[in-house]
Amino acid sequence: MNPPTAAIYARISSDDGSALGVTRQIEDCTALATKRGWAISGTFVDNDVSASSGVRRPEYERLIEAIKTGKVNALVVWDVDRLTRTPSELEQFIGLADAHQIALASVGGEVDLATPQGRLTARIKGSVARHEVEQSSRRLKRKFLERAEAGKSHGKVAYGYVREPLFDDSGVLAGYVERTHPVHAEVIRSATDHLLAGEPLRAVVATLNAAGTMSPSGKPWSGTTLRQVLLRERNAGRRVHQGQVIGKGQWPAIVDEDTFDRLVAMLRDPRRRTNSGSEVVHLLSGIAKCGRCGGAMRGAPANRTGNKRQPRAYFCASCYKVRRKADSVDEVVEGVVVARLSRPDAVGLFGGNPDAMRRARDEASAIESRMEIAADQFADGAITGPQLERITAKLKPQLEVARARLRESEPAPEMQELTGPKAGESWRQATIDRKRAVIEAIMTITILPSGAGKSFDASQVKIDWTATR
Ligand SMILES: [Zn+2]
Repeated sequence: MNPPTAAIYARISSDDGSALGVTRQIEDCTALATKRGWAISGTFVDNDVSASSGVRRPEYERLIEAIKTGKVNALVVWDVDRLTRTPSELEQFIGLADAHQIALASVGGEVDLATPQGRLTARIKGSVARHEVEQSSRRLKRKFLERAEAGKSHGKVAYGYVREPLFDDSGVLAGYVERTHPVHAEVIRSATDHLLAGEPLRAVVATLNAAGTMSPSGKPWSGTTLRQVLLRERNAGRRVHQGQVIGKGQWPAIVDEDTFDRLVAMLRDPRRRTNSGSEVVHLLSGIAKCGRCGGAMRGAPANRTGNKRQPRAYFCASCYKVRRKADSVDEVVEGVVVARLSRPDAVGLFGGNPDAMRRARDEASAIESRMEIAADQFADGAITGPQLERITAKLKPQLEVARARLRESEPAPEMQELTGPKAGESWRQATIDRKRAVIEAIMTITILPSGAGKSFDASQVKIDWTATR
């Protein structure tokens, strides 16, 4: 006896989208037929829009014709519900399968329409709602994987993005395209910048809420929700499926990959304090050192004890012997910082290394030129494909090393913003946390002891510049 001549029947409905779903059904059916040793004589694909709308299925009709004329005697489907959607269609098909001795194989589980048990199974399949739910969930999972592999997103549109419908030439919905949301994407970008500039999470949250932006749930931001949103790999254009990055997404990135990776490293740093302590209101609290004992100076708010008014002050939290009016100290320090940030070489303050930057940039462009030359040689037929591949494989890691060196030698872009002729203005607009980050990066401040009762003198605030690399 010859092996059965099988047909594959696949159908896609609007609930699971594009032609990709059909591709997947056919792949699975082909694999099953091969396993059975069946020869595939034809593939019938209907692309109907609705599950039970009664839309004509020309390929199904062609399949029935092929069965009636004996061209096929076996059928592979992804599931019985792909073949028939209504009980009456199923009964008709059972009758047909009976009359023509059709063997049926289904990827979703065996259904032998030639036996009473198989028919019962098929009928139960058609009528039990729970089963239907399971099937469509299986179908959806398959679909998700497929979409994931194709770099598409699924489900609710993520914060930072909008999904827009795409229409083909005849005005039929062909799919969706994701674009960045002008406001939400900016929230992600600016929160990322501020965090990388050293601002604590709670300060960034406070800024966002003060600006009236809302979290994805429509409520004010919390540290947890902001962290969740910022840690999404999709923000860097990466596609994740079941917790794994599986490739590039088909959507624009909101932050570039390097920035994203730096942010993740920072937010996941176990040394990072996660407690939401009270807001820092003293610019130099914990930063300025006591000139007498070297202990940390803390800020004390203005208060009144009896008739005596005490201005806001920095005091040594170790020896308690040094105390200075905070407004005066801040004024001196901020004046010096702004003056320094306004200087043309200020960019070098934030870890930038101009010499190393130049070297790394030259190196990277030299390697890029070599790669271009090789590509030209290949285009001209001077070298073969495998030769080009070997050259590229050798140069690519070198290029990555050079680029990594370049990134290392560049100052953080968030810090660069604060430098230049407009430093004073940027400084006034910066939050206290950002100011603290800058001060800590570029200087050490020591508050020298002075005799009791002596009035404030700027020379009591000793500023040392942190050595630049
Ligand atoms: Zn002290």
